[in-house]
Amino acid sequence: MVDLGWDDAADVVIVGGGGAGMRAALAAAKEGSDVVLLEKMDHPGGKTAMSIGIITASETPYQKKAGVKDTHAKHFADLAAMAKAAGQPVDVPATKFMIRECSKEIDALHKLGVKFTGPHPEGPHGTPRMHVIQPDCRDMAEKLVKACKKAKVRIMCNMPGAELVLDAKGEVVGVRADGPDGPKHIQAKAVVLAAGDYSANTAMVKQVAPKLKLAEPLRAFATGDGHRMAMRIGAATRNMARVNTPQMRFPGWPHVEPSPGLVGAGAVLVDGAGKKIKTVLDESVLLPGFEDRWEDIFIVIDKATAARLAKPADDVGPGRDGWVRTGKPFIGTAPKVGYAYLEDCRDWQWHHEARSLAAVARHIKCTTGALEKSLGKGSEGPYHILGPVRRVIANSGGGVSTDFDLNVVTPDGKPIKGLFGAGVNARLISFMGGHGYAFAWAMASGRIAGGNAAKHAKKVKL
Ligand SMILES: Cc1cc2nc3c(=O)[nH]c(=O)nc-3n(C[C@H](O)[C@H](O)[C@H](O)COP(=O)(O)OP(=O)(O)OC[C@H]3O[C@@H](n4cnc5c(N)ncnc54)[C@H](O)[C@@H]3O)c2cc1C
Repeated sequence: MVDLGWDDAADVVIVGGGGAGMRAALAAAKEGSDVVLLEKMDHPGGKTAMSIGIITASETPYQKKAGVKDTHAKHFADLAAMAKAAGQPVDVPATKFMIRECSKEIDALHKLGVKFTGPHPEGPHGTPRMHVIQPDCRDMAEKLVKACKKAKVRIMCNMPGAELVLDAKGEVVGVRADGPDGPKHIQAKAVVLAAGDYSANTAMVKQVAPKLKLAEPLRAFATGDGHRMAMRIGAATRNMARVNTPQMRFPGWPHVEPSPGLVGAGAVLVDGAGKKIKTVLDESVLLPGFEDRWEDIFIVIDKATAARLAKPADDVGPGRDGWVRTGKPFIGTAPKVGYAYLEDCRDWQWHHEARSLAAVARHIKCTTGALEKSLGKGSEGPYHILGPVRRVIANSGGGVSTDFDLNVVTPDGKPIKGLFGAGVNARLISFMGGHGYAFAWAMASGRIAGGNAAKHAKKVKL
């Protein structure tokens, strides 16, 4: 007998305590598994807790209540049209699977006490499908933590998973975690990788997307540990070159991505010296015209520009539809409201109001003269200042290849026994255009991976 010197044992070990990991933990615990959840940081939540909270779903009770007639088939047709427009092939069974499973999460989360607004319109979808978590994803993540504790999931924080442990047959039998007191070997009948994305792993990003201009990551914890652990034992990966183009995001809550339409309406972007930043507008990616600008940026909106933006009075319903009906720009997709108008920003720390240009200059710490030049003659207050906003890499989209059971697979498609993937760590599809799928996929894949890991664990004797 070989004594592997296990420090702990569980039926299912989950690496990563974001949405996917916690959802997997709950599903495994529901099947009767003893579950250990390893979280690298001092609290679970991950990018899930930072998310805007948009789920694009069909056949939901919210649509029904709002009188919106929708089907998964119509949803699929819209996605297929988007894929065609983007020149991308559609994996029909996988796309249908994701639509169905992601949509189910509206009900599943509702049962955990999570509420939504919507359906809001969601271009280019032909039907309102955007559901927005209430009050926000920080609250939702805490509900998941509470539910995990209630289900007796053993959450271990500051305990990053480091390597998978294999037996002589190459089957996954445990995880090494590198905690504050040194390595801890945890025996497991099944492991779920749910450690989030790799946008903060510069070496990995350089390798998979060499042409991407390297911006700072939105959060440093996203080092792709789950991808690395799986790749090290021969797992296949998919779409690893898919790393979000550096986009503008407010580093403070909420992490809204300002809408490109703002510049079209007259908003001016300035640097810390008050100098205007030239922008180029693109329909899909925000303001990519200033490739090498990585510093704090401020968005200044004067009285005339503010009048051109959508307002709550423009909404008729269901959901935030004023901007669609009028064609006026909104500020960005945002928690709670779906599409934020200027009026909503007053609740957020990165919004400031100033009656005069001198007050704007005082806030930005630049000269009034520089701002006068940037905003041009005729600009009048009151002003709104949004910022600072920075250009960051918010996410990476590649993942470990899985089958429909969320079993991690090798390049020849064979499942690696005992290893499952969820959230950003699980990818079984290439194209899922539009937004509102990453978050829902974290939840849906977590549910499926956790449930199947528990079922696998029942069959394993260690
Ligand atoms: C600002 C922002 C807004 C977004 N808004 C939306 C939206 O509205 N709709 C949408 O569909 N998607 C959105 N997304 C994307 C979506 O939120 C994520 O894709 C999804 O939540 C990822 O879930 P996850 O569980 O896979 O990863 P995460 O939630 O990032 O969880 C990963 C967890 O693993 C932990 N971890 C990392 N390494 C280890 C390790 N070695 N051991 C243990 N733990 C580890 C991390 O600390 C983290 O807690 C947004 C993303 C961002 C950044």
